[in-house]
Amino acid sequence: MTAQSLTDLSRCCVHTITTKPWSFRESVQSFARAGIPGITVWSDDLHDLAPKEAKSIIADHGLQVVSYCRGGFFPHLDTARRNVAIDDNRRLLDEASAIGSPFLVLVCGTAAGQSLTVSREQIRDGIETILPHAESCGVKLVIEPLHPMYSDARSAINTLKQANDMAEGFASPWVGVAIDAYHLWWDSDLQNEIQRCGKNGNLAAFHVSDWKTPTEDMLLDRGLMGEGCIDIREIRSWVESAGYDGFIEVEIFSKKYWEMDQPQFLDQIVKAYLDHV
Ligand code: ZN
Repeated sequence: MTAQSLTDLSRCCVHTITTKPWSFRESVQSFARAGIPGITVWSDDLHDLAPKEAKSIIADHGLQVVSYCRGGFFPHLDTARRNVAIDDNRRLLDEASAIGSPFLVLVCGTAAGQSLTVSREQIRDGIETILPHAESCGVKLVIEPLHPMYSDARSAINTLKQANDMAEGFASPWVGVAIDAYHLWWDSDLQNEIQRCGKNGNLAAFHVSDWKTPTEDMLLDRGLMGEGCIDIREIRSWVESAGYDGFIEVEIFSKKYWEMDQPQFLDQIVKAYLDHV
């Protein structure tokens, strides 16, 4: 059964990377003006702004912080760099807490030069090490599986099954999973793994954009919803059948759209969200 179209923006969230040319403040103001109630904050977009100050800007505009991005990048060939990653993640957890985010999204990392199995062990160890800090911050660590095309440089967690296995291994309320349609749409096990994710209480976030044909840049050519080949509404129906009724986050990394007039782009996002999510 396919989900009905969304009739309003009450569950809409936009990731600040989507409107990268805007300053953090411009994104907040523009999302609020457009009636978008949720915002996910990329730490790089804060520049010199303290997370506490960012929190009050968001609150002043009546927005809600959905997630803080991004921790992770645990695997490295040498111990020293793995320890630096742990320190970075502790700092990011502090920032997530200060900005009022319930989640820190993890792009888990990988290291060319060692096997993906070893990288996955280092990811597990990294999460285990920072878990007590996540709990004391009151911030959940959210494992986001990335498309296998990123298994060389960004993440050794490439399927929802791998993310579910890892989250279930922790069995902690401070570890969850993000489902990003762009990374997972191709997987024949997706529906079952979404069910499993929800049933075990791990489904923390749902991200949308579209897969363009041809994709001209592996990182920076995501499409607006409806522009590509992903049946987003079908995936949303699976996510909702698994019990998820939280924010639906628009996350579009795109050189093409960053070159566009951003107010016009935001209008297109709103239309695409209502027409295709
Ligand atoms: Zn995502």
